[in-house]
Amino acid sequence: MAIDAFTAPGRFYRGNLHTHSNLSDGVLDAGEVCRRYKAEGYDFISMTEHFIGLFGYPIADTKPYRDNEFTTIPGAELHSGAMENGELWHILAVGLPEDFNPPEAPHFNVVDGMESGPAIARRAREAGAFVTIAHPQWSGMTLNDARSLEAAHAVEVYNHGCAVDDGRPEGFHTAELLLSEGRDVTLIATDDAHFRSNDHFGGWVMVKAEANDPDMLVEALKAGHFYASQGPELHNIEIEGKRLYITCSAVESAFVQGHGSGVVRQHGQAMTRIEMPLARMNESSWFRVTIRDRAGKCAWSNPIRWK
Ligand SMILES: [Zn+2]
Ligand SMILES: [Zn+2]
Repeated sequence: MAIDAFTAPGRFYRGNLHTHSNLSDGVLDAGEVCRRYKAEGYDFISMTEHFIGLFGYPIADTKPYRDNEFTTIPGAELHSGAMENGELWHILAVGLPEDFNPPEAPHFNVVDGMESGPAIARRAREAGAFVTIAHPQWSGMTLNDARSLEAAHAVEVYNHGCAVDDGRPEGFHTAELLLSEGRDVTLIATDDAHFRSNDHFGGWVMVKAEANDPDMLVEALKAGHFYASQGPELHNIEIEGKRLYITCSAVESAFVQGHGSGVVRQHGQAMTRIEMPLARMNESSWFRVTIRDRAGKCAWSNPIRWK
């Protein structure tokens, strides 16, 4: 069984899907943000400003910063409605049209009569966006909240800014519970960079597409043709019978994780071709792959359904 993210035509493009400039509460102007990402070896970013009235509901026009080697995807971080803890939703929408109709969201707070989080997420998906449940741990999101966001394609499983500034980086728990309920979600890592601290160049996606083109990248994201990383590279994952084969940059640990406590692990030195038995995954309809290098940096595959 071949895994689509690796067999899809094209090559991998490196991108950050969650970024802020001074059009909302980031420090740098959008041009300088793009310059820095390109200089750091990224192929694309999505500028995802806080889409609230305080900032004039910005969807950054980043077209001037595109060139032959670097592109940008229009997007925004949407805020409308309350989660179960009473706080405002944070929903990432990448590939959002620039004329997306604003909600009634004047500030970073919940007001009466607001459009709900699930409703604005649905609108964003219908408008063509790749929709992600942003930083569930940082938000204190419940499983009920996550379930309710039916329009979400993905969960933000690693948010570098939330790691650096808040010590609350994760979304894996939420994503895995949804997967075990039969929900298909993919897994993204992002920076959520504001450039107020060292909150950048820490988590990204590698998207397999035929060209570094905004529309093709969004389609590849929706199709799950990507993996998430903090450094290591996943070159291929293949399944033959009850065995899994990983080809990757040099790592010292590999894990296959599935339903409940199901996990298979392998440790070694400078491993680039790894063979793992899948027998322990028999009880799970899904599994995913994590690799970790000597520096402790990880890469994460999307979930694989095999039953
Ligand atoms: Zn946020
Ligand atoms: Zn953000």
